[in-house]
Amino acid sequence: MKQLCEVVIIGAGIVGAATAFALTRAGNLRVALLEKGPLAGGMTRRSAGVAHPFQSHPRLIQYALESIAFYQNAAQHLGPSKNEFITTGAALVGGNADAAKMFAQAQALARLTRDSSAPARGALAAQFPGVAPQLQAGLFTPHAGYADAAQMTQRLIQAAQTRGLTVATGAHVKQIQTVSGGARSVTTTMGSFEAPIVIVAAGGWSDKVLASASQTVTLQFQRGAVLFYEQPPETTASHPIFWDVHGEFFLRPHPYRLSAAGWIAPPTPALTLEPFDEFVAPTAATRVSQFMEQCLASKFVAPKRSHTIMYATGADGLPLMGRVHDAAGLFIAAGFGANTFAVAPAVGKTLAQLIVDGNAPTAASFFATPYAKEETL
Ligand SMILES: Cc1cc2nc3c(=O)[nH]c(=O)nc-3n(C[C@H](O)[C@H](O)[C@H](O)COP(=O)(O)OP(=O)(O)OC[C@H]3O[C@@H](n4cnc5c(N)ncnc54)[C@H](O)[C@@H]3O)c2cc1C
Repeated sequence: MKQLCEVVIIGAGIVGAATAFALTRAGNLRVALLEKGPLAGGMTRRSAGVAHPFQSHPRLIQYALESIAFYQNAAQHLGPSKNEFITTGAALVGGNADAAKMFAQAQALARLTRDSSAPARGALAAQFPGVAPQLQAGLFTPHAGYADAAQMTQRLIQAAQTRGLTVATGAHVKQIQTVSGGARSVTTTMGSFEAPIVIVAAGGWSDKVLASASQTVTLQFQRGAVLFYEQPPETTASHPIFWDVHGEFFLRPHPYRLSAAGWIAPPTPALTLEPFDEFVAPTAATRVSQFMEQCLASKFVAPKRSHTIMYATGADGLPLMGRVHDAAGLFIAAGFGANTFAVAPAVGKTLAQLIVDGNAPTAASFFATPYAKEETL
């Protein structure tokens, strides 16, 4: 079977889905989304679905703010759902030694929104009963919340299908063929798809997919865990998201009187995506509950359930996004690490602009070379 399209997207996680949605909205293009497993079956299924603007680069802050606004209006963009994005606000938390880091985040955010603040000690506890009275948050922003990442992915894909998106699940991409250095066709276990534009949005597998087109990218992996705890009675379900200024821990409310908390290990050089080890070490659970107790004046006992997650960034900790150097028509969007869900709609929109208009005012020139020299910041 051979299918002719204008754009092929590889990977039906949140990034591929957001890109498919934006492309079918931006132009009258024949787009195919290829996925080796089920929709949202990769790391997106494991994501905690938190979106906040505490990002490591001003452009990522901008992407997150834009994406949060998109999620807040998801019913309008994608049709109504029982599982909409829940806006909670988010507090950046750290110790006294982290003041400079928090100040830098506050400055970066203040340039982009007027309504972030540095709450006085006790202010969050007064606003959200259950928050630890002694908690000193360095920054609070109302622009944050969470959603079910897998369901959001499916909604994006369904909305794109109403505009003609072709979806092929069980289509494992084996090779991207290039002609005269440009993308031409993609061979999968479900036949081949010919297209002058190919977008690799295969998350932590993007390096392998690009290797089939003789392109080398380096991804580094971090291991983490998401743990679900029963909320003690004194905790209100409406507490904000807490994000550790070092990006090691986070905490958010969850339906059914649960709290979802996460731990993210530093990058480990030799770590690979596969084989995937599901074991969550008890030490990780202990450190997560210490963080939770720092944020909420409660004792948390053993988690009700937990799972591991692996996420990828470029070798310098920044994403890989934009045109693949020296390969006309080949694009990549991967390596957004622990904040992939938070930025995906803006990433998809930016890629769609790059493809439909030839450039994008918010394209990401800062991301790792040799990718995406689209603009000068
Ligand atoms: C502890 C922890 C919690 C996290 N929680 C959050 C959070 O709260 N907020 C946030 O913003 N981010 C979070 N993340 C990160 C984030 O949610 C995921 O990394 C993200 O969903 C990945 O999306 P993706 O689309 O890039 O990749 P994926 O979801 O992995 O999708 C890639 C897809 O490509 C497919 N694929 C791969 N190879 C091929 C091939 N050869 N052919 C066809 N298909 C292929 C895969 O099957 C997969 O479905 C978290 C990370 C950690 C460590």
